Amino acid sequence: MAKDIADSAEANLKLIEEVLAAYPDKAKKKRAKHLAVAQPLTEAEPGIQSKCDTVKSNIKSVPGVMTIRGCAYAGSKGVVWGPVKDMLHISHGPVGCGHYSWSQRRNYYTGTTGVDSFVTMQVTTDFQENDIVFGGDKKLEKSIDELNELFPLNKGISIQSECPIGLIGDDIEAVSKKKMKDIDKRIVPVRCEGFRGVSQSLGHHIANDMIRDWVLEAGEGARAGYVAGEYDVNIIGDYNIGGDAWSSRILLEEIGLNVIAQWSGDATIAEIERAPAAKLNLIHCYRSMSYICRHMEEKHGVPWMEYNFFGPSQIAASLRAIAAKFDAKIQANAEAVIAKYQPLVDAVNAKYKPRLEGKKVMLYVGGLRPRHVVDAYHDLGMEIVGTGYEFAHNDDYKRTGHYIKEGTLIYDDVSGYELEKFVEAIRPDLVGSGIKEKYNTQKMGIPFRQMHSWDYSGPYHGYDGYAIFARDMDLAINNPVWGMFDAPWKKSA
Ligand code: SF4
Repeated sequence: MAKDIADSAEANLKLIEEVLAAYPDKAKKKRAKHLAVAQPLTEAEPGIQSKCDTVKSNIKSVPGVMTIRGCAYAGSKGVVWGPVKDMLHISHGPVGCGHYSWSQRRNYYTGTTGVDSFVTMQVTTDFQENDIVFGGDKKLEKSIDELNELFPLNKGISIQSECPIGLIGDDIEAVSKKKMKDIDKRIVPVRCEGFRGVSQSLGHHIANDMIRDWVLEAGEGARAGYVAGEYDVNIIGDYNIGGDAWSSRILLEEIGLNVIAQWSGDATIAEIERAPAAKLNLIHCYRSMSYICRHMEEKHGVPWMEYNFFGPSQIAASLRAIAAKFDAKIQANAEAVIAKYQPLVDAVNAKYKPRLEGKKVMLYVGGLRPRHVVDAYHDLGMEIVGTGYEFAHNDDYKRTGHYIKEGTLIYDDVSGYELEKFVEAIRPDLVGSGIKEKYNTQKMGIPFRQMHSWDYSGPYHGYDGYAIFARDMDLAINNPVWGMFDAPWKKSA
């Protein structure tokens, strides 16, 4: 049960003060800028509930404060490029960084691993002292040759630079150009060394830029000769965690759209090449893929729009907004699809809402989830009492105001200590965050769901995903294990 404390603005501001009190003055001053409560709007804006962008974001973490962020390499290899399934992605540098990303995230894909798909395979140039001293370009060339011989059905190779590559100044672009001629396949050098930027966010940006320079603008590829249809769209920024992109694609196809590319969950390099032919880019994770959507808009005239497929309220609103970009036929289809799934939504709500209504949730996740999942919880009658992002920018916090009510606790790049103290004081009924936060929270006796990877479950997108989402939240919160938390000898006889 959540502790009976008012989640009011004053209570949350007091809590922030108490938590900051543990820091030395300099750290306190820096961290204070990242913690706030959602403010009232100065003037009413349609669809916006509060002002969340008063926190500072996308700033270097304070040294010594345990951040939960990742690095630029994680943003490029782990998020954007890694899921492109028919390419091999070399973690270029020492073995350690690649080890951490072993098996990738839970980006589901079709294909035969090791034959025509390679997402869960981890490839590294395994730098040694010699490579640091004398340079690793030759080793990289040899690795590309070996990979191409071992996996002849690969459609290309990306080079994901780890920190030492940038430090010793290896020329991965020259190697890429040379080997592209040798093996006649696309090779993409990505300078995503972990030290660049303040978090994984710059890695997303760099990865997008390399899609622009080394794929979209480097020749038409699969786009050549493709005759675009009037309903051709791309799904951008869906990484198919637990099958999310598949459950989204079903809905778009049911309303009559033709998905010609799905990035980068279950993506092929041909889909990336073909994307500029589409009539509309539908972007789910704005933070990690907005850069390439803006480029496609400017260079190729493809407009883009954000959508949200978490929970029935947002799914219906998004389907209607997407359909509004097309003709009356698509709009009628959208209404029919929303009506078709309503019995499923009613059944899910009838089963789970009575078990979840009024439960309080704290979120701390990455790209879009700290705001996009909020209405899925609301659809189940649950309440969000705190939310924050690992690597957001100001425009993400601006968008958060669409979902979050005034007085909600907001924490940017929250440290392990701060999050623990917030959870301890608020004692929500559920925390949704990542693996690094999971066991601490559970040891505090508080139910937890991993909201990066769906805790080995999913999909959570689309109507099918909503049923799974509701079941999983119920399993976490109403699990009988929480009734066994107190030591038996502490219970009265
Ligand atoms: S910060 Fe550098 S060394 Fe650390 S995981 Fe990222 S790329 Fe590797």
